[in-house]
Parts: sequence; C-alpha cells; structure tokens
Amino acid sequence: SRAGRLVVVSNRVATPRQIATGGLASAMRAALSERGGLWFGWSGKIAEKAELHHRHEGGIDYATLDLTRADHDDYYAGFANRALWPLFHYRPDLVDYRRSHLEGYLRVNRLFAERLAAMLRPDDTVWVHDYHLIPLAAMLRGLGVRNRIGFFLHIPLPAAELLITLPRHRELIGALAAYDLVGLHTARDLRALETYFLHELGGALRPGGLLRAPDGRTFRAGVFPIGIDTAAVAQAAREAAALPEIQQFKDSLQGRALIIGVDRLDYSKGLPQRFEAYAQLLEREPALQRQVSFLQIAPPSRGAVPEYRRLRHELERSAGHINGKYATPDWAPIRYVNQSFPHAVLSGYYRTARVGLVTPLRDGMNLVAKEYVACQDPRDPGVLVLSRFAGAAQELDGALLVNPADTTEVAEALARALAMPLQERRKRWRAMMDVLERHDLGSWLDAFLDALYATHPARAGQR
Ligand code: UDP
Repeated sequence: SRAGRLVVVSNRVATPRQIATGGLASAMRAALSERGGLWFGWSGKIAEKAELHHRHEGGIDYATLDLTRADHDDYYAGFANRALWPLFHYRPDLVDYRRSHLEGYLRVNRLFAERLAAMLRPDDTVWVHDYHLIPLAAMLRGLGVRNRIGFFLHIPLPAAELLITLPRHRELIGALAAYDLVGLHTARDLRALETYFLHELGGALRPGGLLRAPDGRTFRAGVFPIGIDTAAVAQAAREAAALPEIQQFKDSLQGRALIIGVDRLDYSKGLPQRFEAYAQLLEREPALQRQVSFLQIAPPSRGAVPEYRRLRHELERSAGHINGKYATPDWAPIRYVNQSFPHAVLSGYYRTARVGLVTPLRDGMNLVAKEYVACQDPRDPGVLVLSRFAGAAQELDGALLVNPADTTEVAEALARALAMPLQERRKRWRAMMDVLERHDLGSWLDAFLDALYATHPARAGQR
C-alpha cells in the first residue's frame, strides 16, 4: 500500500529557496508534496558541529544536517568524489583512495542513519539517492529500521573487474542488499551489479529480477532510465527565442551553423577529445572554416580536486591553441565559456544549435543530450552527436552514435551532421522525441516508486 510518507534522502537537498535546481529537484518536490513527505540530507554548510535544521515549506518537511570540515573533506570531497566518482566512471587511474576518506564516508553515512532513524515513522517509505549514500540502508537496518527502502544510482555502475579494485568493496557494494529495490539507468549497469553479486559475493539470481545476497537477504534490482520534463523543456525553448540574450547571440553568429556542448567541467565528459575532434573537422573540411562556430559551455565544478584544476588548464590551452591556429580577425572557431546558465537561457542556445555535441567518455545518463533534443524546432531540428558510453545512447538511437575516443569518427559525424538533409534530420529527431515524450521525468518517478511499493518490506531486517 502507499500509506505513509515518502522520505527522500540525498547528499544535497534542493529547498525551494535554492534557485539553481533542475527538473529532478522539482519532480522530487512534486512527489513529496503529493503524499506529504520529508527530504533529508546535507545542508550544504560546513559548521563546528553536525546540527540539524528543520523547515516546512510547500507541504514538505526539510531536514538538513550541517557537516564538520573533517566530515565534509573525508566523505564528500574525499571518498565520494576522489574514489567512487572516478572509479564508477571507468577512471581507476584517477582514483585517490585513502583509508581516512573511507572511514569518513562510513562515519557520515552512520551519522545520516542515526539522525534519519530518529525521524522515521513505521509506515514511511524511504528513497535514497546516489553514490554518496550507498551504505545508508545497511546502517539503518543495523539500527532496527524495517521500512521499505529504495536506492537509485545516478551514475554508472562499473564492471565487476573495476569494483573489486575498491578496498573493502564487499562491505560497500554488498551493502546494496540492505535495500528493497536498487534502481539503475541502463541494462549494462544492471548486468554489472548482477555479475558482481554472482561472481564476487557468491550470491544468486532469483526469478523476477531478485538478487540474493550470501546472507540470504533478497532485493530487487531494475532498470529505470531517468527522463526530463519533456513538455516543459520544449515549452521553455519556444519561449527562449524572445529573450534579448538569445536574439543577440543569434545575431553574433551571422548565419554560421552552431555546434553546442554543455557540460560541467569534469573529466568524464571527454572535453579534450571533443576539442581535438573539432580541430580535426576544421582541418579535414577547410570549406567549413568561418562557416561554423562551436560554443562550449563548461561551468567549473569541484575546483578543490586537483584533477579538475588540471583539466581546466588543459582545456584553456587547447581552446587557445585552436583559436590561435584557425581564427581570422572576424571569426573565432571556439567560444569557450566557464559559466553556468539557467535552463531558460540554455534552452535557447540548444534550439539555435544545428548540432548538439555530447561526447562523455562515460555518463550515467546525460540529461544534456535529452534536453538538446527536446529543445529543437520540429520544422528544422538539429542533429545530436552522442557518445555510445552515455546512458542516453541506449534510448536515443536517432542520434549519430560515436566512440568519443575516436576523434576522427567524431569529426566525421560532425561533418555528416552539418550536411544532413532536412528530411533525415526530421526523421531522426521525431524518433528521439517520441522516446522523450513517452518516458519523461514523471514516468521515471512513477515507475521507480511503483516498483518500490511493490516490494515486500516484511523481508527487510529478516533473514
Ligand atoms: N546545466 C545548467 N546550466 C549550465 C550547465 C548545465 O542548468 O550552465 C544543467 C543541464 O541543463 C542539465 C544538468 O545541468 O540538466 C547536467 O546534467 P547531466 O546529466 O548532463 O550531467 P551531470 O552534470 O549530472 O554529470
């Protein structure tokens, strides 16, 4: 039954006062206010001690916890972002594992569990989000919590061969068995989870998508590809044409075809390779010089992590090099912008672009790919060039799919996209838009919660 509150737990809590919130935050808020709910997580603040703040707004209770400097540095900046993030994005070479970081990660998860357990009612359903909180359910179970608990992983789950390089991986990944439902973006992620449980933990597959852990506990794992709020995004793109900044931007192009990339400045996004592919395009197709413009929006993130600072320098060098080599007094090949933009403005850029260039080396889903498609003008849609290693590639086969490491293949796809006849562009766009309309953010939310409510929490806590 669906009685009781929905309790959402995530590292960051998007309270209504925070402006920079995407579709996911508003979808969560809709789900929470519908059934009366609680959203619990880190306040985003560093303080002397871990104080809990309560607030009630728009029919939702928010409970946010401050973190101490040490907890933040070990749990968030440390283990989550310097061990789990690179490893789960297939970059074991970038993993900087420290025992103290893992201990901090477990410490903060335990702290979250204790504070949350004290607030839970017996009929609450709990939904935990993402790689920061993998062991949370196991710790809640340890405190006697019997509630239904679901988990969704928003990033890829890597192959077992990579998972086993994580110290104490059995304890960490094995802790997923304490959930009633584990949701992943793609069949590839699910296969990785099943393989790990079978071959590394000695668990078993049961009928109906159930996995059995060696201790006998069973849980369900399933594929739930996240969507966007397709109708709202398309509407924003239609309205963006009237914004002065979009009109000015269009004027500045002087009729040139626009290629757009929009990514957090992160090594998983394949940005150096993307710049290289664009340079190859200009080299192979000199006729395109002065006829195209590449706008890369790349807001910096996680600047405290050295790898991100290195990447930023590398991209500055590369953009400067390409502009220096190919620019003419009245044309710059790359516009490289280290700023973030609100969705209302981004959607106007997307709609202006003839090509959406989305080439992560690995990505759980990649929402930018979906947003680009939803923002197109149906009469004259642009072309999506998409990495095979983004979760979105499993659904968007109307895109030109590429291997982002093969910069020649990407350059060829760009040339093909720029030359693609209207009829083919329309056909490919329609196929992708159908998927986005059928599987939007609301249907993702419903599908996950339906599956979670269909689990049998009586199993929880029992062997
Ligand atoms: N985004 C934004 N402003 C920007 C750049 C990105 O609002 O300047 C949004 C973008 O529209 C998308 C999200 O940030 O909704 C990025 O999600 P994605 O899955 O593509 O990548 P992530 O950053 O989660 O790895």
